[in-house]
Amino acid sequence: MTPEEFRRHAHAMVDWMADFLDGVEQHPVRAQTRPGEIAARLPESPPDMGEAMETIFADFQRDVMPGITHWQHPRFFAYFPANSSPPSVLAEMLTATLGAQCMLWQTSPAATEMETRVLDWLRQMVGMPRGFTGVIQDSASSAILAAILTAREKATGWGVNAEGLKAHPPMAVYTSEQTHSATEKNVKIAGLGLAGFRKIPVDDAFRLRVDSLEAAIEADLAAGIRPVCVVASIGGTGVGAVDPLRAIGELCRRYDIFLHVDAAWAGSALICPEHRWMFDGIELADSVVFNPHKWLLTNFDCSAHYVKDPDALIRTFSILPEFLKSREADAVIDYRDWGVPLGRRFRALKLWFVIRSYGVEGLRAIIREHVRLGGLFAAWVEADPDFEIMAPPMLSLINFRFHPSGVDDPADLDRLNEALLHRINDDGRIYLTQNRVGGRYVIRMSIGQTRTEQRHVEEGWAVIRELAAG
Ligand code: PLP
Repeated sequence: MTPEEFRRHAHAMVDWMADFLDGVEQHPVRAQTRPGEIAARLPESPPDMGEAMETIFADFQRDVMPGITHWQHPRFFAYFPANSSPPSVLAEMLTATLGAQCMLWQTSPAATEMETRVLDWLRQMVGMPRGFTGVIQDSASSAILAAILTAREKATGWGVNAEGLKAHPPMAVYTSEQTHSATEKNVKIAGLGLAGFRKIPVDDAFRLRVDSLEAAIEADLAAGIRPVCVVASIGGTGVGAVDPLRAIGELCRRYDIFLHVDAAWAGSALICPEHRWMFDGIELADSVVFNPHKWLLTNFDCSAHYVKDPDALIRTFSILPEFLKSREADAVIDYRDWGVPLGRRFRALKLWFVIRSYGVEGLRAIIREHVRLGGLFAAWVEADPDFEIMAPPMLSLINFRFHPSGVDDPADLDRLNEALLHRINDDGRIYLTQNRVGGRYVIRMSIGQTRTEQRHVEEGWAVIRELAAG
């Protein structure tokens, strides 16, 4: 492709992108294709000769687009958002164009230095104290893994790295019943085994019970098991559970246990001072993660991971073959040893574009509007005799179910709501996901897409009621 052809195709695609985003509401939110339908449209073997970009792009529109679920759709109310924004997309275009692999300071000093600076901006934005140093990970899952590995190594004096797990007594990781599945997955990856994974019960407000945590720690110590890490949730995935950080942090200090805070979704809301109560005690944490790629208008992937003791993290991951040595290593940060992958994208650029383009106040206004819309939606559900709220609404996350009069058997209600959810998502006008609260099947409404306005939430509520009535 010549530079002139590249320019022509890029202009055409940017026009397509602008039109697509402008008209994204016209698409079904969740892809309506059946398993294998897209694969059947793709040739079984690669082309021997290059094809024209016009053909490739036309095939993209015809064969690929129907299989896309539209996370940038303003009526996307499923999971948590993975929202994007025009400034973030522009930065991603530049990042792709530069194609820099930013594993070392020397392999793009600007990427490293901007990452350090922008993550410190973000630290200030969410009101975290000085003393936390940030790094961008690809996901909250990777940050949790980094935390558990660091905890394991600190507890064994970097002994597992040296001698392997067999040389050490068994270890345990603690978290609440409301934790994201990533914690359990990472306990397995870290080699601690599910035998070392403790799901601590929660209280009526879904908060980890500190008395139960202490009892579990004591029981493990008595059994010769070393407690190494607690993962606390701030805004858990199911109902947005907020664990009592200060009490957990004090307990961790007392027992010398590493504390990681998973605020993957809710952390972004802390740019609004009125939500900072959730971080009371954050100074007691050893590491913290939240995802600007969820609720801060920054394209996936971008997880902000903060650590109190970067040396412990680096020592856990560090490995230095000859080809990675550099003259400046003592004077600069080389992010290659702050996580699992060696190679790194220039992810700070999109965050820099977003924060500068919206300003902190602009971002706050968007989060506040989503929270306001969450409150409105919860009020509509509460006021409707055929629906009920199933857990206290949290920020913009609402768990509810359809409960028409005359249907009271719990299993019938589960079946009814499951059928309703499938019906809603097959309809395509909105997209929601499910949850279990107290063992019961519930529908989960999460508001946070960049383009979501009140009319979209009103339309969503109308669709839910229409399909429930049917
Ligand atoms: N923690 C919480 C509370 C989450 O909600 C999620 C994802 O939704 C994760 C962790 C995992 O995030 P990631 O996809 O960045 O690994």
